[in-house]
Amino acid sequence: MADVAAVVDELHSCLDLLNGCVADDLDSGEFGGLVEQLGKAQCKLDAATLVLTRRFDRSGMWHKDGARNAKAWLRTRLGVPDSHAGNQIADAKALSKMPVVAAALAEGTVSRSRVGLLAKASSGERAGLFARDEELLVEQTVGFSYRLFSKAVRYWIDIANDELGLGEPDPHETRTACSRGDGDDQWLIKAVLDVVAGVEVDAELRRLQDELFAEDWAEAVARLGDGNVTTDDLARSPGQRLADALVEMARRSAATTKPGAPARRVINLRMDYQTFLAERAQLAKDQQAKQQQADPEQPDPEQPDPLAGPEQPDQAPASEPLADPEQPEQLEPLAGPEQPEPLPDSEGPANPVWGGRVSETEAGHVVAPSLILTPEDGVHVRRVVFGSKGHILDFGYATRLFTGGLRQAIIERDQQCSHPYCETPGSYCQVDHVIEYEDGGHTKEQNGRLLCGYHNRLKHTQKHARKRAP
Ligand SMILES: [Zn+2]
Repeated sequence: MADVAAVVDELHSCLDLLNGCVADDLDSGEFGGLVEQLGKAQCKLDAATLVLTRRFDRSGMWHKDGARNAKAWLRTRLGVPDSHAGNQIADAKALSKMPVVAAALAEGTVSRSRVGLLAKASSGERAGLFARDEELLVEQTVGFSYRLFSKAVRYWIDIANDELGLGEPDPHETRTACSRGDGDDQWLIKAVLDVVAGVEVDAELRRLQDELFAEDWAEAVARLGDGNVTTDDLARSPGQRLADALVEMARRSAATTKPGAPARRVINLRMDYQTFLAERAQLAKDQQAKQQQADPEQPDPEQPDPLAGPEQPDQAPASEPLADPEQPEQLEPLAGPEQPEPLPDSEGPANPVWGGRVSETEAGHVVAPSLILTPEDGVHVRRVVFGSKGHILDFGYATRLFTGGLRQAIIERDQQCSHPYCETPGSYCQVDHVIEYEDGGHTKEQNGRLLCGYHNRLKHTQKHARKRAP
């Protein structure tokens, strides 16, 4: 058995050596590979650090130095913030109960930043189910981006809560906001909203921010001349424009003396067919129970479909071209002959990450299925229910631009910029022809993909560079 202290000493020597080489002029073309390798080494180091942290915590040796607890000891000795020390203690404790995660961290296949999220999933009443699914959860998410990984874990938590009969936490209940003068010359506004309300506010802020961007751009063009402007030349930073957008929102609100009928945004929420059926059945059951409670004498022979009423969220005024009569059956999934399949389908458009469940906003924030079926008053939610293949109809070849329903369909399918190094949400992306229109590419679903502004420009720059090359 190696002496831990001696090994740590040796590690220090190795790292000193490494820092010595890095400081020298390097000619290696493999910087990216080296950074990646160091990231893996960092995971291994984190694994050892957390195991030792746990031992130290349990030993109570921090008490000798007069520290109130291990967290206080770490905070002082490592010079880190309270939250950092607290996370280290909490992750160390959680990791001691997650053997598969611990092994993956020690192998460098799972990063430290994932440990905290897995710890949250395994906490409380879910501990037993987590032990059952731990291996699967780690194996299936190894190649995922962090974003996809956190979504998978969030879905796993929802499904585990269902299995345990735990109520869904209500994010609407924990909403809060504060608005107060902060110091002498600044004002602080902070708000925590549930996802649906957040999407609604954010969309409006972004819309105003876009207007201000256009103003700034026009001003810079007038000042520097067309073709000479980059985002660095704009008068305001993105943060400043967002702040101004908030003020603009207040001014426009104040200018409207009569509340009248507010223009409401339609929020697209997507869910898979199976979750939709399960949630609908649950809703019917809840409603039946409620009715029988109200009127116990009257058995309820014919339970009406709770979604069949005039309040049906699909019937929100469709201001966008999705109401096109050519629109496929996807908004009326119950009418289709299609049967749900239990396994995730890699071809599925909504990228099912765990157990095939999809219940999220356009930008990929996971939301409770109940919210999609019974949205709050005043929010127009458009359900988009996918089948196992989730195929979307062609819209014909006649047009050159991806617009209206077809554009919307591709946003629903891809969800984000299709460049592997990008996670820009679909609503901020352009729909690009995979095979260019000039090269005979059709404007149809199969030939469309999402690219953000940056990657769309990059594609064209690279194409022109290739054309210029001999
Ligand atoms: Zn992109």
